[in-house]
Amino acid sequence: MTILSFYDLETKCSEQNKAIYEIAQEEEAALSEECVDVIRIKVLEDLLAMKEAIKNGLQSTEKAVSGWCGDDCVKLPKRFEKRAALFGKTFEKITTYALATAEENLRMGRIVACPTAGSCGIVPAVIAAVSEEEKIQEVQQVNGLLTAGMIGLLVSNKVQLAGAVAGCQAECGVASAMAAGALVQMLGGNVQECVQAAALALKNILGLTCDPVCGLVEVPCIKRNAFLAVHAVTAAELALCGVESKIPMDEIVDTLKITGQLMSPLLKETSLGGLAKTKTAQELEKKLFKK
Ligand code: SF4
Repeated sequence: MTILSFYDLETKCSEQNKAIYEIAQEEEAALSEECVDVIRIKVLEDLLAMKEAIKNGLQSTEKAVSGWCGDDCVKLPKRFEKRAALFGKTFEKITTYALATAEENLRMGRIVACPTAGSCGIVPAVIAAVSEEEKIQEVQQVNGLLTAGMIGLLVSNKVQLAGAVAGCQAECGVASAMAAGALVQMLGGNVQECVQAAALALKNILGLTCDPVCGLVEVPCIKRNAFLAVHAVTAAELALCGVESKIPMDEIVDTLKITGQLMSPLLKETSLGGLAKTKTAQELEKKLFKK
């Protein structure tokens, strides 16, 4: 891999007059000794698996072993049928699809970790919902997913993408940055706009803690997927309007790492702090272990 930073990526794209997805598929092809067409087929398979997870999630109300979560995504279409969401159909679908995938994850259904299982709903929701509403072809969706993959890969070169290492900013935060970049690509933005979208998404979620109640990837993880999917759209829209992050993406990634190091271990997936230590969380914990 010759690209280690967003600066390298933008330079290479500019020198070769290529989009991020083109560089991503070429790098992946070289790394795995496959041709670009094979890489694209594999990415398409991931995309289809993401959509399958959304479909399965939408059809199920089965709760997880905890009994707390698993039936939220079906509540959204019921409400939206009676009264459309203020932000329109795309918002309705993004929030519903993000919950559907995250709920499928808690049921141990098949999902695509993107970049992690806890944050699996964000990228699929944005790609699927916007594609449906904007009639974006599958080939463009694959381009978007490749763009997301490159963004996630470059962040992971510097920071391990795990709540236990750097908090939820490294899971749902990075997923949101990936989705923002994918969305800009699918909507016809250029390389700089893709990177700016990722930067805007990531820098505005720095410091997000990981404090799952009872150590389960349910509370607050599931709903967080819906919020961070919408966050990605905000970043993409701003970037497409020409709004730029004053802090470059590479420095934001450095800050993500440092912030993760500064974060108390109580807030890094230990369930010893934050929401996991609230009165209600402790009551839930008692009930769960009684079960
Ligand atoms: S709160 Fe922690 S476990 Fe839940 S999605 Fe975020 S990083 Fe993952």
